Amino acid sequence: MPPAAPLLLGFCHRHVDRKGIARCMTCAVIVCQECATRFDGINYCVECLARTRGGDARRKGLPALVGTAIAICVMLPLVGMTLGWVLLLWSRALR
Ligand SMILES: [Zn+2]
Ligand SMILES: [Zn+2]
Repeated sequence: MPPAAPLLLGFCHRHVDRKGIARCMTCAVIVCQECATRFDGINYCVECLARTRGGDARRKGLPALVGTAIAICVMLPLVGMTLGWVLLLWSRALR
């Protein structure tokens, strides 16, 4: 009796001579050891993983970068002004 799992999964959608070990959770294709990629504990095929990661980078990466740039642009003059005022008041208080 051969094991049931490889028979149920069949062969990899990219490598027809390799046994499948998992199914992509997004498009349900069968993937072999080499093609299966885990992300957040879920199996994906290479195509779906690239799509998932690319989408994340576009959604989260850019606004975070823009937000940081704006924060730096706003903070630097504020810090400089505050420091200038403190130094001015301090020098006056000493006199
Ligand atoms: Zn897929
Ligand atoms: Zn494969």
